[in-house]
Amino acid sequence: MPIVNEERLIKNFENLVSIYSPSKKEGKLAEYIKDYATKRHWDFTVDDANKATGGDTGNIICWLPGMSDEYVLVSAHMDTVEPAANKKILIEDGIIKSDGTTILGADDESGVAVILEVLDYFSSSEKPVVGIEAVFSISEEIGLIGAKNLDYSLIRSKYAYILDSGGPIGTAITRAPTHFNIDAKIYGVASHAGASPEKGVNAIKIAANAISRMRLGRIDQETTANIGLIHGGTAVNIVPDLVEVKGEARSLTESKVRELAEEMERCFKEAAEREGGRADVNRHLSHKGYSFSEEAKTVQEFAKAARAIGIEPRFVSSGGGSDANVYNQNGIEAIDVSTGMTDVHTTHEFIKISDMIKLAELMIELYRKWGV
Ligand SMILES: [Zn+2]
Repeated sequence: MPIVNEERLIKNFENLVSIYSPSKKEGKLAEYIKDYATKRHWDFTVDDANKATGGDTGNIICWLPGMSDEYVLVSAHMDTVEPAANKKILIEDGIIKSDGTTILGADDESGVAVILEVLDYFSSSEKPVVGIEAVFSISEEIGLIGAKNLDYSLIRSKYAYILDSGGPIGTAITRAPTHFNIDAKIYGVASHAGASPEKGVNAIKIAANAISRMRLGRIDQETTANIGLIHGGTAVNIVPDLVEVKGEARSLTESKVRELAEEMERCFKEAAEREGGRADVNRHLSHKGYSFSEEAKTVQEFAKAARAIGIEPRFVSSGGGSDANVYNQNGIEAIDVSTGMTDVHTTHEFIKISDMIKLAELMIELYRKWGV
């Protein structure tokens, strides 16, 4: 008899992606999960992370006890990117996709559906070796803010698996970069562009000079930088006195990204000084990176479970961030695991049914044999 109930898993996935749940509006999706848990008598609570995020629900934390007192965390985020309203879901040749006018939302409802299946499996048959602590987080897509505001006093686990990346099943991200944001406000002096330009200091010119001196794009194999937003000026005949510029820098090596962020700040300040303007630069850590060898417990247990179901694990580094970064920053050893989601954040996004089944099998195996 197959371990995974394919029909139940796919039904849940279809139901979940059909609920409109953009960041800060995960409330309806949370209702679905809470209903589901209540009907099955699973123990759960909702924290008040939304007080900080302004959303309509907090993170859901759900517990299923195991044979020991130890818990291992598994998580997926409830929110999706846009466009996500009025989805039409198509299933063709074992592949689930949208009709091409919206995203699918496999990022990250595939993770949510798999977690529900794992909980369903263990609540209707054997007990897992360790307890399952499932976190359904909010507002991951707008800066991991559900995980950042999670009530960690409720969390029982030392180890975590975040089901929120792509690639063949058996892939896990064991290295992810430290991420800095750089927000600059550049002040010039306003003046009429035709009558008295010499009285003005052009903030757009300062920004342009600063940005042209920055190292941007791929700096090296593990380091990137970007200026992504620029906003300023009031009219074509006025020398602009304010420009706001937002950028970021990432690296797998923290010292490199710190240096790079400092350098970006310096470019703004020096350019402002040359032109007689001023730059206020706010450079702040968004989240720390992480790096694990194959000796790390989460990595070892994941590899063991993958091999047990006939999959060779793949450990990769990522240029992106996930809730796993935030868990690691909070002292919980976490890696980000592929659900098979493909072309996420586009209207071509899709997922294979067979991949979701494989991941559910892998996670069931993991909870069956954790630490054994
Ligand atoms: Zn995601």
